[in-house]
Amino acid sequence: MFASLRSRLFLTYLAVILATLTVAALALAIFLIGNPLFYRQWYAQQGIALQIMQRRLASRPPEQWQTALKRESDRLAEVLDARVLVLARDGKVHYDTAHGAHPLPLPPLEGILPQRGHVRDAEGHTWVYSARMMPGNVWVVVAHRLPSRLRLLLFTAREWLLPLTEAGLLAILMALVLAWWLSQWVVHPLRHTAEAARALAKGQYQPVPEKGPRETRVLARAFNDMARRVEASQRSQREFVANVSHELKTPLTSIQGFAQAIIDGTARSPEAARKAAEVITAEAARMHRLVVTLLDLARLDAGTADLQREPLDLAVLLQSVLTRFQPQAQQAQIHLALESEGDLTLRGDADRLAQVFTNLLDNALKHTPPGGEVRLQASRTASGIEVRVEDTGSGIPPEVLPHIFERFYRGDKARSGGENAGLGLAIAGEIVRAHGGDITAHSIPGKGSVFVVKLRP
Ligand code: ADP
Repeated sequence: MFASLRSRLFLTYLAVILATLTVAALALAIFLIGNPLFYRQWYAQQGIALQIMQRRLASRPPEQWQTALKRESDRLAEVLDARVLVLARDGKVHYDTAHGAHPLPLPPLEGILPQRGHVRDAEGHTWVYSARMMPGNVWVVVAHRLPSRLRLLLFTAREWLLPLTEAGLLAILMALVLAWWLSQWVVHPLRHTAEAARALAKGQYQPVPEKGPRETRVLARAFNDMARRVEASQRSQREFVANVSHELKTPLTSIQGFAQAIIDGTARSPEAARKAAEVITAEAARMHRLVVTLLDLARLDAGTADLQREPLDLAVLLQSVLTRFQPQAQQAQIHLALESEGDLTLRGDADRLAQVFTNLLDNALKHTPPGGEVRLQASRTASGIEVRVEDTGSGIPPEVLPHIFERFYRGDKARSGGENAGLGLAIAGEIVRAHGGDITAHSIPGKGSVFVVKLRP
C-alpha cells in the first residue's frame, strides 16, 4: 500500500512534521511555564487592585486607615478570589484574609516601590503575589494560588494549540503537494527508462530523454549508452552472419558447379575432370581456412585462445618474418627493410605475433606500387616496445580508416572474395590486445600508411 515513492515521501514528511510540532509544543510549554511573563495576567490584576485600594485609603482620614484596611482587604480577597495580607514594615503579619492558613514565606519587602514575585508555601503550592505600600506605612500583599503546572498548561493551551494545529495542517497540505511534485520529478524519467527497457527487450531502440534530478539523468544516459551498444552489437551480429554466409556462398557455389559437372558428364575428359577436382579442392581449402580463421577469432574473442607466452626477442622474430617476404618484395620491386634498436625481448606467443606482422607486411606489400618502400621499425619506449610498419603505398582514405579493424571489412570492395576476407586486421587486433597491447593505423592517402603496434615487455 505504501510501496510507491509518493506515499513513502508523504509519510516521511508527515513524520517530520509531527515530530517538529511535538518538539515545538513541548518547547513552547517549557518556555511558558518557566517564563515570568506567564504570570502577567495575575500581576496585572493584582497591581490594579492594589492601586485602587491605595487611592481609596488615601482619600480617607488617617484614623480610619486601620479599619478601612481590613475591610478593603476582605473585599479584595473576595472579589479577586485571592489571599490578602497586611504586613508591618518589619514583615510582621497584621492581618491575613486566609485565617489559619500556612504562612506565606514572603521575602523581605523593602523600599516603597510595589513589588511582585512568586513563592512556594509549606504545602508546595505556588503563590503569585504583588505587594504595595499603603498609607500608614504598611504593606498590602495580594496573592493568588496557582493551579498545578499541568492544569496551567491546559488552561493556556487554547492560546497556542489552535495556531499550532493550523500550522500543522498547512504543513501537511504542503507536504502532500511537495511529495506529489517530487515524485513526479523522479518517477516520470524512471517510467520512461522502464518503458525503453521493455521496448529494447522487444528489439526496439528508443532513446530515453535525460530529464529529472541528476541521478535519473545519469541513469538515462547510462541506459542510452547501453541501448546503443546493444543495438550496435545486434547489428554487427547480423552483419557478421550475413558476411560469413556471403563468404561461404562463393566457394560453395563453385564446388557445387564443378561437382555437378563431374556428375552430369560435362567435365567428361580426364583433363576437365581433374581441373574440376582441383577447383573443388582449392575452394574447399579456402572454406576450411575461413572457418579456421573464424574459430580462431571466436576463441580470441572469448579469451579462450591458448597463448603460449614465452620470453622472445622481437628483433629475431621480425627478421624471420621479413626474410619470408623478401622474395615477394623483390618480385614486386619494393624495398623492404628492418630497423631495430634497444632491448626488444618480451613475453609473448611467437607464432601469434608472427601472424600479426605477417598480416601487416602482406597488406603493406599488396598496397605499395613497384619502386616503393616498406619499412619495419622496432624500438624500445618508456612504456614498452613499439613496432611501426610503414609503407609508401596507396594509403587509406579517411572514411575507410576507422573501419579497417572491423571483421570482414575491406576497403577495396573489388577484392572481395580474396584470401583474407577482410579478417586479417581484425585477427591482428585481437592478438595484440590478447597480449595486453594496442594497434593503431595512420595514413595519408596517396603517400602511405603506418601501422603502430605497442606491446608490453
Ligand atoms: P584484407 O587484407 O583481406 O582486405 P585486412 O583486415 O587485412 O583485410 O585489411 C582491411 C582493409 O584495410 C583492406 O581491405 C584495405 O583496404 C585496408 N588496408 C590494410 N592495410 C593497408 C595498407 N598498408 N595500405 C592501404 N590499405 C590497407
